[in-house]
Amino acid sequence: MFIDHEYIERLLDNARKSTAAEQEQAVVKAEQGELLTHEDIALLLQVRDTALLDRIFAVAGEIKRNIYGKRIVMFAPLYISNYCVNNCVYCGFQRCNELPRRKLNREEIQEEIRILEKMGHKRIALEAGEDPVNCPLDYVLEALDAIYETKLDNGSIRRVNVNIAATTVENYKKLKDKEIGTYILFQETYHKPTYEKMHPKCAKGNYDYHLTAFDRAMEAGIEDVGAGALFGLYDSDFEVLGLMLHNEHLEQEYGVGFHTISMPRLKKAEGMDLDKFTYLVDDETFKRLVAIIRIAVPYTGIIMSTRESAEMRKELLHYGVSQVSAGSCTGIGGYKEEEMGRTTEQFKVSDERRPLEVLKELMDDGYIPSYCTACYRQGRTGDRFMQLAKSGNIGYVCTPNALMTLYEYMLDYGDDELMKRGEKLILEETEKIEREDIKNLLTRNLALMKNGKRDLYL
Ligand code: SF4
Repeated sequence: MFIDHEYIERLLDNARKSTAAEQEQAVVKAEQGELLTHEDIALLLQVRDTALLDRIFAVAGEIKRNIYGKRIVMFAPLYISNYCVNNCVYCGFQRCNELPRRKLNREEIQEEIRILEKMGHKRIALEAGEDPVNCPLDYVLEALDAIYETKLDNGSIRRVNVNIAATTVENYKKLKDKEIGTYILFQETYHKPTYEKMHPKCAKGNYDYHLTAFDRAMEAGIEDVGAGALFGLYDSDFEVLGLMLHNEHLEQEYGVGFHTISMPRLKKAEGMDLDKFTYLVDDETFKRLVAIIRIAVPYTGIIMSTRESAEMRKELLHYGVSQVSAGSCTGIGGYKEEEMGRTTEQFKVSDERRPLEVLKELMDDGYIPSYCTACYRQGRTGDRFMQLAKSGNIGYVCTPNALMTLYEYMLDYGDDELMKRGEKLILEETEKIEREDIKNLLTRNLALMKNGKRDLYL
């Protein structure tokens, strides 16, 4: 198996004995844009010296800016079913928890989607617990149809990323046929003994089957896969190296690694006691992890959910986070019921601000909020996407697309203040675009949008 536990432990043991000079050498390599080895990443994970850490944070921020520019992609999760046959000890939906179980029917899904569209969302992550009887794949496929078919005024969901349990090649083919965006699956922990302890007596408890899910997804033709580890279950340094090895395995076998990495931290959930977890990750460690992952996989998107507070998200954006959720509800039918009293959530959300507020703050901090879904719709997926990212040319599409989708949001969902600030930002950023052909196309498209056209992208 490609996650060699002894190898990872050896890397970490050696790095723990490293000198400050050896650690600095790894930082210098990162600063010079050299390819980092596993040993280098292990060394970066040992850095505690504040001056060296500042250099790591600076490189991580620079990498993000150089590759993707100032854009931060926005999305929202949609929980469609909390039926679950699993027993994951860290999850609020675990089968032992007595909570009202339900799944949304087609009308309810469409109602949730209309609320999300009213908030301006274009990209969602569909989430469902594992239950072959109550939440079979056919139900998920029907949900995808319902989502893509729901339009409200100018609103539409243009990309649905899907986070459902590991499954077969045949089922992945069916998901691919429904034109999903990224298939997302968190390994939770790469440490097999911990994995088995965290998933007692349940379908998800088969470490090898779970770990090879992306292989099956890729065999089925799904090109964009999104990984993640739940930081706090085991030694976070081990998880980072686990993610790296998993990514490399996919690159070697299928020519493309992770499209995204999600970085959830273990949070309080119904039926679990946070005090029982000994590997919880504090804020300072978490910032280091985000920055080191950004350096280790420069072209992979890093996703941060509303599990993290507004302050933490704000800081992590400087270290390489490239996608954030906004206005999220993690309960079933949560968007509708939010005002009527909360449903049971899968985990506690820390950042409860509406997208409009999040957008304004992102702009204050020098970012361009983006609702772009262009790459997947232009066929820039898998290795075609990675080639564009690696050639340094992705920014040529990300920035204009971010500006167009921001303008679309301003026209359809913004307020006067956003319009004023957004127009200034769009003008300034358009001026900075070096390629005249792209600048002209963008200017033309913005004018078309002012006159009612929508959904324009490069
Ligand atoms: S242009 Fe592609 S990479 Fe850039 S934000 Fe849009 S979809 Fe993402």
